[in-house]
Amino acid sequence: MSDAVNTVIVPLIFLASAILFILGLKRLGRVRTAASGNQMAAFAMLLAVVGTLLDIGIVDYRWIIGGMAVGGLIGATAAIKVEMTEMPEMVALFNGSGGAASAVVALAVVWLNVVEAGTTGTAAETLGGSQAITVGLSILIGALTLSGSLIAYLKLQGKLKRGQPILLPGRHVINLVLGAAMLYLIVAFAYQAEGAEATTMAIGLTGVALALGVLLVIPIGGADMPVVVSLLNSYSGMAASATGFVLSNNLLIISGALVGASGLILTQIMCVAMNRSLLNVLVGGFGEDSAAGGGGSDEYVNVTSCGAEECAMVLENAESVVVVPGYGLAVAQAQHAVREMADLLEARGCKVTYAIHPVAGRMPGHMNVLLAEADVPYEQLLEMDTVNPEFKTTDVSIVLGANDVVNPSALDDKASPIYGMPILNVHESRSVFVVKRSLSPGYAGIKNVLFENDNTTMIFGDAKKVLNDVVKELKEL
Ligand code: NDP
Repeated sequence: MSDAVNTVIVPLIFLASAILFILGLKRLGRVRTAASGNQMAAFAMLLAVVGTLLDIGIVDYRWIIGGMAVGGLIGATAAIKVEMTEMPEMVALFNGSGGAASAVVALAVVWLNVVEAGTTGTAAETLGGSQAITVGLSILIGALTLSGSLIAYLKLQGKLKRGQPILLPGRHVINLVLGAAMLYLIVAFAYQAEGAEATTMAIGLTGVALALGVLLVIPIGGADMPVVVSLLNSYSGMAASATGFVLSNNLLIISGALVGASGLILTQIMCVAMNRSLLNVLVGGFGEDSAAGGGGSDEYVNVTSCGAEECAMVLENAESVVVVPGYGLAVAQAQHAVREMADLLEARGCKVTYAIHPVAGRMPGHMNVLLAEADVPYEQLLEMDTVNPEFKTTDVSIVLGANDVVNPSALDDKASPIYGMPILNVHESRSVFVVKRSLSPGYAGIKNVLFENDNTTMIFGDAKKVLNDVVKELKEL
């Protein structure tokens, strides 16, 4: 019976799970099918867990139940407690946990097979040549993902300086030395080190990988974090895939490779969105020339502001309105209020669309998820390339808690840390309202010259409160 389970049932469950992961991922690529894709992938994960538990070769149920209880408790508490606006930090921590799990499994394999078993041969002789290399890779990518993700978490939380990069002197030389040490340790661990020496090398490799993770993420500044977050997501998949080879678990190899590949594709999309190459992001120390946030001063002059009533009067006469959501909209949880305002304008015959910048918010797809919560119709969400040519003929653009993604310095100020990043060209519309609480900068930590434009009017306040006031005024007009 147990033979049949191991040789037939478990592989069949894994096959079904792998197919469902692939189909689920495909469905996640389109907004309309994303929810069902997510459910499909969740079911695939359930199958993967059941298949793994049935795989009696690896089972000690006491440890598994204990692990599931502790992990489940931590996961459920985090999921209940975390605010929607803290999701990016949570994603960064999850990426790091995935990396940590891969590294710990690989270290356990070293301990059990090479040290505790008391073998006298090298890791390659004990584990097999290719498996010894994958153990090394699993430790390397896993530990690097862990420390890199923790730094990303601290930067997203604002506990580490995030506007400008932190540049250590001689960082390229340090990285090269660590890179060389890493290569040496992987090969030496697999083919030269024996017994306890192999553990020392594996621990050394962990230390080098942890240091590399810190040094690779710490210099990322300006608005480049989205690229790094998606890259770390990809690394966590690659680490899991390497661990799949270590454990001879085909499903882990496939699912890890899917996460790794889709993370790389997302990284590429983010690089295109920022108009920057991956190499440039990783070695460039982006933003290092600009402590003041661009060529000009940080002080604002000629800023005009108004209240909800004036805004409602202009909106009432507009034939076309583009809503530009940003991180502040998520902070204010104003998605339902914005929908209500749009409904009122549409009822008056106004054309309302939403302009979505690929890096708006704090995680890929953040604005799409937020607006979907308020059932904003998908066809009204326009991507940057589609909406940009339309701003010239737009009556009113209303910017809600967005800042960096509408900063015209990216177009013409070569000294700006975000120079070269494509933006939503709201400044080209006939009139622009910017709703935010103050003149504070956005994530990149720089001044936004849009606020000084003649056709821009600021409305200072929490986005939800301002929108509720605008809705009230529109109802009274
Ligand atoms: P920004 O971070 O540039 O600006 C957000 C603005 O929202 C702030 O200036 C803030 O101003 C305002 N705000 C905050 N709370 C409220 C509120 N309750 N009501 C109204 N306004 C509020 O956001 P963008 O979306 O324009 O740009 C995203 C930035 O984040 C980019 O630099 C991007 O690179 C970066 N990033 C993106 C990631 C992603 O994957 N999308 C990941 C990591 C970083 P004030 O305090 O005055 O109200």
